[in-house]
Amino acid sequence: MSKPYADREVWFLTGSQPLYGEETLRQVAAQSQEVVRLLDASPDVPAPIVWKPVLKDPESIRRAIIDASSDDRVIGVIVWMHTFSPSKMWINGLEQLRKPLLHLHTQANVELPWSTIDFDFMNLNQAAHGDREHGYIQSRMGVPRTTVAGHVSNPAVAARVGTWVRAAAGVAATRDMKVVRFGDNMRYVAVTEGDKTEAEIRFGVSVNTWGVNELADAVAAVEPSAVDALVVEYEDLYDVVPELRKGGERHESLRYAASQEVALERFLVERGATAFTDTFEDLGALRQLPGIAVQRLMSKGYGFGAEGDWKTAVLVRAAKVMGAGLPGGASLMEDYTYDLTPGKEVILGAHMLEICPSLTTSKPSVEIHPLGIGGKEDPVRMVFDADPGVGVVVALSDMRERFRLTANVVDVIAPPAPLPHLPVARAVWRPRPDFTTSAEAWLTAGAAHHTVMSTAAGVEAFEIFADLTRAELLVIDEHTTRRGFADQVRWNQAYYRLAQGL
Ligand code: MN
Repeated sequence: MSKPYADREVWFLTGSQPLYGEETLRQVAAQSQEVVRLLDASPDVPAPIVWKPVLKDPESIRRAIIDASSDDRVIGVIVWMHTFSPSKMWINGLEQLRKPLLHLHTQANVELPWSTIDFDFMNLNQAAHGDREHGYIQSRMGVPRTTVAGHVSNPAVAARVGTWVRAAAGVAATRDMKVVRFGDNMRYVAVTEGDKTEAEIRFGVSVNTWGVNELADAVAAVEPSAVDALVVEYEDLYDVVPELRKGGERHESLRYAASQEVALERFLVERGATAFTDTFEDLGALRQLPGIAVQRLMSKGYGFGAEGDWKTAVLVRAAKVMGAGLPGGASLMEDYTYDLTPGKEVILGAHMLEICPSLTTSKPSVEIHPLGIGGKEDPVRMVFDADPGVGVVVALSDMRERFRLTANVVDVIAPPAPLPHLPVARAVWRPRPDFTTSAEAWLTAGAAHHTVMSTAAGVEAFEIFADLTRAELLVIDEHTTRRGFADQVRWNQAYYRLAQGL
């Protein structure tokens, strides 16, 4: 089975030193190759793990890290000190590191050979203190990294390595991400604003704007044969309502929606963009707010934010990459309205149109209804319920001197009753630990109403993503208490301001 990031690489660097002699170093090489083989064979590790020759001196360490940092295929580096690799040898190398780092604290053997163990064995298998020496220099130099301890044959260890690989792939995706904005922010809205220059420094994302009429021109230029093909695909994949089907009285609206999808995708491909935004307040010559077009592009892996919300577009794209190949999906989501029945509180999330069908395994219906705002023609949209299961909703807020990610682990449930009059795709969920704690914590954090809902990549991937990008992360989950969360927000406020330096 091919790995989700088969065209990427994670390099595995093994630390040692010349002190032990050739025979021991041959064993170090063979055993580190076996560790790599086990990791690479794990179905939970989504990128190829590439073994590199054992590093024994400062120059080869520096060279290996420069090579990893300059190779676009490499999304991260794993280090393991099989023996003792004196860490001053690593200083120059670690200063050159530009890729996410995983410190894997493992050893070749699972059990100790109690009856035969001698000092040769002790010399060979001393990661227990070799990795402690390495952790010291990483900490002293302030190198951001993820530390994973345990034998690689343990599925829980391979799974954690796999989650780090996913986060590293998310970081790689944001490093060269281009976001196309059609129009600006929704007028007067605060939380969807943000510092695009700082976002490029922190995350690498390049966020730029295009006039929406350039898109309208591209929509008008789509050839009928491309629309024909897409309409056939819609009728094949979805339950298209009769009025929109070929021969139906509103079929022309479906054709226009299809031309929006074709034009939008071409526009993004031509600019190398993987995420985009629009806004209902600035549609120019577009006849309808893109609905099914946006939903379909999200399902193809593009990030999207509504009302000019480029920060959520970035998050949706990162979640798409981090969740590649996993069951579930990722979508723009908005906390919309509540059922506040005591003890049974749930959140109904939706948007005007733009919820990604990767959240469902059911067959969406394609419908047309009035929008109510924007003053344009009725938009075509897919309607469905998100699948039940565990998910996470994540928001990105600009707190001036830092970006704050707020994540809430949620349990998506089947709607308690059918919603025959709600003309949009939706998700219904119970936030952990409970509605009151979650909502109060969310508001205390100043977290946005727009989120990415991910049912593929979990909260652990976002935790590592936040570490790697040095973004603040506040998690609301089954362990959250009101007082503990408020304290964390206060302490973080001091920490992140101090961490900027004077
Ligand atoms: Mn919105």
